[in-house]
Amino acid sequence: MLDTNLGKELLEKDEKYVWHSMKPYNPNATLVVEKSNGARLVDVDGKQFIDAMAGLFCVNVGYGRQELAKAAYDQMIVNAYTPLSQGHVPAIKLAEKLNELLGGDYVIFFSNSGSEANETAFKIARQYHNQKGESSRYKIVSRYRAYHGNSMGALAATGQAERKYKYEPLAPGFLHVSPPDSYRSNEDAYTDLFEIPSVKEVDRVMTWEFSDTIAAMILEPIITGGGILMPPQNYLKGIKRVCEKHGALLIVDEVICGFGRTGKPFGFMNYDIKPDIITMAKGLTSAYLPLSATAVKREVYEVFKESGDYEYFRHVNTFGGHPAACAVALKNLEIMEEEQLFDRSAQKGAQVLEALQNQLMSHPNVGDVRGKGLLIGIELVKDKTTKEPLNIEAVNKVIATCKESGVIIGKNGTTVAGFNNVLILSPPLNISDDDIKIVLDTLAEAIHQLNV
Ligand code: PMP
Repeated sequence: MLDTNLGKELLEKDEKYVWHSMKPYNPNATLVVEKSNGARLVDVDGKQFIDAMAGLFCVNVGYGRQELAKAAYDQMIVNAYTPLSQGHVPAIKLAEKLNELLGGDYVIFFSNSGSEANETAFKIARQYHNQKGESSRYKIVSRYRAYHGNSMGALAATGQAERKYKYEPLAPGFLHVSPPDSYRSNEDAYTDLFEIPSVKEVDRVMTWEFSDTIAAMILEPIITGGGILMPPQNYLKGIKRVCEKHGALLIVDEVICGFGRTGKPFGFMNYDIKPDIITMAKGLTSAYLPLSATAVKREVYEVFKESGDYEYFRHVNTFGGHPAACAVALKNLEIMEEEQLFDRSAQKGAQVLEALQNQLMSHPNVGDVRGKGLLIGIELVKDKTTKEPLNIEAVNKVIATCKESGVIIGKNGTTVAGFNNVLILSPPLNISDDDIKIVLDTLAEAIHQLNV
């Protein structure tokens, strides 16, 4: 623990100098972390917290992994930097490993963040069609409520108006369709893929917009930032078929769903499809260093490879695929395999889901408890019959009560129409059973204190 005065001084300086990426729920109670281990954080005043969010859905192997620090150190000593206009050993090994995890046959482009990985995917999709003589194909279809990043293209793909309207005009050429949402419309009964309403809508949009103008569709297997929106089991298969019908590429954003979060190496593996492009970040290094990747099916890559110098992909990223970050990612994936964290996420996730359903579903404000693996959402409503979202003050109160009791949980959704009402659990995949129990008890207590 830092001495109390030092802790106070740091908090004052934090308030004065640091522009936080989200407004703290209570500015006087910003959590300033001094150290961390496992699923636990210790703040500058020495108070302990269980981090049931793994940072921002990213510290998948937990905090304090010395092997990861050592992997970065060792790589920096051996070779601190080589740009990927040339090559280096950890990038080659990591690309090979990712291809294996993806089940082949993909070529990997490295960047630093999820937003960049998506921007890269959009540029590849547009240029792919251009190179094939179909330069009219530039539109990217995305879904309302999804989040795909903060840069002008990734934000244009994002379907949450409140994050966008002050920065418009964003990159042109992005269209939005309705997301599936198992809580508000169960589409599992449809056996004909093209009849699933949320699939049919994509087919209709691609038809009416004119197939020859569509470059790609981007989606997360499960919408995370928009409130853990579960698709019907056949949705992704249906979307893949619709994309094929219209000649569009399917980009799957695995920035959160990847690396065990949903109980599989990648979220799309729960739904039996093979995307054309896959973007990933966060859990790739468990956030020990920044790194992201855009995996591209070989047949898409071949179109670039066979082109002349000026038609090659004109996209340089100075730090993308940094040797130290690649070395950390390789070690991180090794840990995940050794400790069987993908399976653990599936098993623990199923147990947590069941426990939460048993503990919470009788509460008048708990409308739905859903998720896959250790990615779980609890939708709070004012009224279970109308499913009207619970007001944000009450939702924030639950989060604040948990924090006071030493448990960090999250919240997602969109403020549009008040849909900012889904509590999130997304802990490190190796969180201990004892810590899981504390998280569940604390959350249940905070929800039972709700009096609305
Ligand atoms: N895609 C998804 C699904 C995300 O959740 C995020 C970030 N939360 C991004 C992309 C953007 O990633 P980054 O913040 O690393 O740019």
